[in-house]
Amino acid sequence: MITEVVKLDPVNPDIRKIQRAGEIIKKGGLVAFPTETVYGLGGDALNPDSSAKIYAAKGRPSDNPLIVHIGCLEDLNKIVKKVPGKAQKLAEAFWPGPLTMVLEKSDIVPITTTGGLSTVAVRMPDHPAALELIRASGGYIAAPSANVSGKPSPTLAKYVAEDLDGKIEMILDGGPVGIGLESTIVDLSENDPVILRPGFITCEMLEEIAGPVETDRTILSADAGGVPRAPGMKYRHYAPQGDLTIVEGPGGEVTAFINEQTKRLEKAGEKVGIIGTDGSIHKYPAGIVKSAGSREREESIAKELYRILREFDDEQVTVIFSEAFEDKGIGQAIMNRLLKAAGHKIIKL
Ligand code: AMP
Ligand code: MG
Repeated sequence: MITEVVKLDPVNPDIRKIQRAGEIIKKGGLVAFPTETVYGLGGDALNPDSSAKIYAAKGRPSDNPLIVHIGCLEDLNKIVKKVPGKAQKLAEAFWPGPLTMVLEKSDIVPITTTGGLSTVAVRMPDHPAALELIRASGGYIAAPSANVSGKPSPTLAKYVAEDLDGKIEMILDGGPVGIGLESTIVDLSENDPVILRPGFITCEMLEEIAGPVETDRTILSADAGGVPRAPGMKYRHYAPQGDLTIVEGPGGEVTAFINEQTKRLEKAGEKVGIIGTDGSIHKYPAGIVKSAGSREREESIAKELYRILREFDDEQVTVIFSEAFEDKGIGQAIMNRLLKAAGHKIIKL
C-alpha cells in the first residue's frame, strides 16, 4: 500500500483534503491525523474490520481497547448506555480537550473496538482538523496513538511515517502537536471517577468539577500489585532502544552522579544520552545531552519528551539517563510516561 502524506493547515484546514480523508475512513481505511495531544491512527469506530486493521497496523494486542473520538457532545449519547451527571459536567468543562472518559458502551459499538470490554473510552479532541475529520468520517473515529506498539507516541507526522508508512492509506500532516502526551483517562462507569492514566487534565482540575476523584494505584508504582484498569497500562509502552534510568535527588548530586556514570560507560564503549533541562544541560560535559525544556514550564517538557526519546533511538544511544520531574500537575503525567519508558528503573540519591 502507498501511504499518501497530505499537508494541512492545523487552524484553517482545507475542507476538501479532510473530506477525502473522511471518505477513506468511511470505506474502512485508515488515516493518521493530528490532535492536540499526539497523532492518532483513525478508523471507523463502528466498523469492526476497521478496528482490526488498526490493531494490525500498530502491532497492538487486540485486548487493548481503542479510544473513540467524537465531534460534538450530542454524539456521546449514541455510543454509551447512559451519561452519568458527573460525566456530563466533565464533558461540558473539558471538551473539546485532552480528557477521555470510560463509560458503559451501547450496542452499536463493536467489541473489537473496545478490546472485548463492555465499556468504551470516549473523547472530543481540541483540534480543528481532527474535529472536521471526525464529522467527515461519519462521527466516530477509533484512534489510538499513531505509533507502532511499544514506541513513543508520535508528536510529529514524520514519526507517524517512520512507523506506519506502507501500512495505512493516508497521513494528515498538521505540524507539531500542542501537548505531546496522551489524554487523561477517567473511568466513570462505576461510582466515583477514577484516573486510569494521568495527562494534561490533572486530578485537581477534575475534582473542582466532579468532586472526589481517585487515582488507580498501579499508575506510578511498579510494585503496587493488581491489574491496571486501563488494559494498555499493563504493556511496556514508550520504550526507547537505549537502557533508560531516571535519577532523582538534589540537583547537584544528580548531575554529579550522571557525569560519573557517563564517563565510566563511555570508556566501556557505550553511547550515552542525557535528558536534562534548560537550567542543567551546561553541567553535563560528556554524553549526548538534550534539554526537555524549562522546569518552570513543565508543559514544555511534556511536549519534547517523546521527540527526545525517538531522537535517541535514531542516534543509536545505548544508555540514557534522565533527570526526574516533580510529581505534581502535568509533572505526574511526565513521570508516569518516563517511569514506563524506564521499566520503572529509578535511582534515588
Ligand atoms: P492510546 O490509544 O494509545 O492512547 O491508548 C488508549 C488507552 O486507553 C489504553 O491504555 C487503553 O487500555 C485505554 N482504554 C481504552 N478503552 C478503555 C476502556 N474501555 N476501559 C479502560 N481503559 C481503556
Ligand atoms: Mg498509545
